[in-house]
Amino acid sequence: MCNIILLGPPGAGKGTLAKQLISVYNIPHISTGDMFREAIKDGTPLGRLAASYINEGHLVPDEVTISLVRERLSQKDCEHGYLLDGFPRTLPQAEALDTIGKDLKRPIRVVINITADEEELVRRISGRRVCRKCGTPYHIDTMRPKEEGVCDACGGEIYQRKDDTKESLLVRLNHYYADTKPLEDYYAKHGVLYEVDSTVGPKKSLKIAQKIIEGAKCD
Ligand code: AMP
Repeated sequence: MCNIILLGPPGAGKGTLAKQLISVYNIPHISTGDMFREAIKDGTPLGRLAASYINEGHLVPDEVTISLVRERLSQKDCEHGYLLDGFPRTLPQAEALDTIGKDLKRPIRVVINITADEEELVRRISGRRVCRKCGTPYHIDTMRPKEEGVCDACGGEIYQRKDDTKESLLVRLNHYYADTKPLEDYYAKHGVLYEVDSTVGPKKSLKIAQKIIEGAKCD
C-alpha cells in the first residue's frame, strides 16, 4: 500500500477526502490537527501548548509537530501504508518527514495537492461544522446531518471549530501561502506531486484520487 500526503489550504477538502480514502484502502488517517484537538480536549501539556497557537490560526512549532508525527508513524499500524492529512505544512517538516520515512523504511510515494479557489475556501470554512467525537465534517448549507447537531456517523455532538472564524482563517491562509504552498515545488521535484481540484465535488475527487494512487509506484 501507499504512504500518502494530502496537501492543500484550509477548507480544500483534505478531511473529507481523507475519510473516504482510509475507508477504501484501510490505512490509518494521521491528522496532526485531530491529534492536537484530542490533546486539547484531554487537557494535556501538549494540548495547552497547541491551543495557544491553534486558536489564533498560527502553526504549532515544527519541533513539537515533527516529534508527534515521528512517534505516530513508528507505530505498527503504519507498516502497510498511512495517510497524512495536514502534515507537513512547512519545509522543515517536509525535510524531517523524508528522514523519518527513510529511518522507518516508510517513504512517501504520493502527494495529493487538493485545490479550490479562495472564495470557495472562505465559504466552506465559515459554514463548516465537525463532529467532536469522530471528526466527520459537515456544512451548514451543503452537508447537513440528518438530525440537527448530531453526527450521522457516530451520534457525537456537531460543533464549530474555534479556528473556523473569518479572522482565524485569514491568518491560516497567510501561513498556507508563506509556509505550505512552497511544498508543491518540493514534492514536484521529488516526482510525487499530483493534483485534485475539489470543486468537482467529493465523489469525483475520490475517483480521481483513487486513479492517482493506483497508478503510482507503491510497494
Ligand atoms: P487542521 O485540522 O489540519 O486544519 O489543523 C488545525 C490547526 O492545527 C492548524 O491551523 C495549526 O494551528 C495546527 N496544525 C495542524 N497541523 C499542523 C502542522 N503540520 N504544523 C503546525 N501546526 C499544525
